Amino acid sequence: MFEKILVANRGEIAVRIIRACKELNIRTVAVYSEADANSMHVQLADEAICIGRPPSNESYLRIDRIISAAEVADVDAIHPGYGFLSENAHFADVCESCNIRFIGPNSRAMNALADKAVSRALAKKAGVPVPPGSDGVVENEQDALVNAKRIGYPVMIKAVAGGGGRGMRSAHNDISLVKGFHTARTEAEKAFGNPGVYIEKYIEDPHHIEFQILGDYKGHVIHLGERDCSVQRRNQKVVEETPSPLIDNRFKKLREKMGKDARKIGEMAHYVGAGTVEFIVDNQGNYYFLEVNKRIQVEHPITEEVTGIDLVRYQILIAAGEPLRHSQGDIKFEGHAIECRINAEDPFDDFRPSPGRIEMYFQPGGHGVRVDTHAYAGYTIPSHYDSMIGKLVTFGKDRREAMDKMSSALAEYMITGVKTTISFQQAILQDPNFRRGVYSTNFVDQLLSGARRELIEDKS
Ligand code: ADP
Ligand code: ADP
Ligand code: MG
Repeated sequence: MFEKILVANRGEIAVRIIRACKELNIRTVAVYSEADANSMHVQLADEAICIGRPPSNESYLRIDRIISAAEVADVDAIHPGYGFLSENAHFADVCESCNIRFIGPNSRAMNALADKAVSRALAKKAGVPVPPGSDGVVENEQDALVNAKRIGYPVMIKAVAGGGGRGMRSAHNDISLVKGFHTARTEAEKAFGNPGVYIEKYIEDPHHIEFQILGDYKGHVIHLGERDCSVQRRNQKVVEETPSPLIDNRFKKLREKMGKDARKIGEMAHYVGAGTVEFIVDNQGNYYFLEVNKRIQVEHPITEEVTGIDLVRYQILIAAGEPLRHSQGDIKFEGHAIECRINAEDPFDDFRPSPGRIEMYFQPGGHGVRVDTHAYAGYTIPSHYDSMIGKLVTFGKDRREAMDKMSSALAEYMITGVKTTISFQQAILQDPNFRRGVYSTNFVDQLLSGARRELIEDKS
C-alpha cells in the first residue's frame, strides 16, 4: 500500500480524497495556489506545498510544479481528483516515468479512450449504439455541411476534447451549422487547446443516464449501477439521482442492457480504476453512448450511498495493484440517493458567479444527510475556479423519502455573504414533474421560463 499520496486538486474533492487516505493510514500532501492558502484541504493534509499564482494555468494545471512538489515530498502516488489534470494522458505518463503511481486509468486505457471521437469509435466496435454522426473529426465547413445533410437536422457540433458542457453547439439548419462549427472550434481551442470537433445527431428530449464502472489490473470490470443526471443547465449537471426514475418507471429492461454495455466498453479499453460511461436515452427507450469520464465523478457519492461502496478508497486500492473485491453479483443496491450541487451563483441574475466571503455557515445533518464540502464560516470563495461550494446528498429507503429529506435539508442549509443556488434547488425539488420523476434535460429551461413568466405576470 502507498505511504504518501499527493492530492493534485482543490475544493471538496481534495477534502474527500484526504479523508479516504486518512482512513487507510496513508499520509497526504496538499498542493495549493496562492488563492487557496486558507482552503480546508490545506488544513486537513499532513503537508502542504504552494505551487503558484491563483489562475489554474499557473498552479493546478502546472505539471512541472506538481511533479516537483511530489518529488520534494517524496510521495508514492498522485490522486488527480476531477477536472484539472485528471484526464490528461501526458500527466499520467510523466507520473509513471517518475515512478509515481497515477491514481486513475493507465496510459493504455487513456489512449483507447483518448477523446470523444476515439471513444465513439471504440463503442461502435464494441457493438454499443452511438448517435448517428460523423466518422471522426470534421475538418472544414464543407465537410460539416455534407455530414449534417447525411445525418439530418438537428445536430450537435461537439469538441472531441470537450468537458464541463463546453465546446458544444446545436444546429437546426445550414446557417446555424456553419456558425456553430466555427464558434465550437474557437471555444474548444481556447478551453482545451484542441479545436477538433465532430458532429452527432441531436437526440430530442434526451435523458442523461450514466453507469459507474470499476476495473482492475487483472482485466475485470464491474458496474455499480446508474445515475440519472438529466437535471442540467447549459449541459451541466445540477441534480443527480440513483436509481433513475426513467428506468424504474418506463424502461426497466434498460438497466441490465446498459450496464452490460458499460462493462463491455470498460473491458475493451482495458479500463483500470473508477470511470463513468455516459449515455443519452430518448423517450422511446433508445440509448446511445456519449463518452467515458476517466476519473472520479462529482456525483460519485450517490452511488456510494446505494451500494455501500467507498469509491475513492477503491480507486486507491486498485491503483496499489489490488484486484476487485466484488464480482458483479456481489453488488447490491438499496434505497435511493439524490445529490444537489450547491454553487456560489445568483439564480436571480442568470447564475452569475458570486465569489466572496462566507459570513455565516450552517450545514444540514441528521439521518440520511451527507454534505461533501470545503466551506466554513469565514472562508473566502476565490473567483478563479468553479463555483461549487459543496454537494448535498440525501439517502432514503425510496425516492419519496430521499426527496423529502432533500427538501428539508435544503431549507436548513444556511449560507450568508455570497449568493447560492439553494433556492433554485428547492424550486426543483418542489416541481410536480420532478416529484413524479418525469423530466428530461429540457427540464431546467422549462422551469426557468415558467418562473420568468410568473415574474412578468406579477409585475403587470
Ligand atoms: P461530472 O460529470 O463529474 O460532473 P463535469 O463535466 O461537470 O463532470 O466536470 C467536473 C469538473 O471538471 C468541472 O469543474 C468541469 O469544469 C471540469 N472538467 C470536466 N472536463 C474537463 C476538461 N476536459 N477540461 C477541463 N475541465 C474539465
Ligand atoms: P461533456 O464532456 O461536456 O460532459 P457530453 O458529451 O457528456 O459532454 O454531453 C453533455 C450533455 O450535453 C449531455 O448530458 C446532454 O445533455 C447534452 N448532449 C450531448 N450530446 C448530445 C446529443 N447528441 N443530443 C442531445 N443532447 C446531447
Ligand atoms: Mg459528459
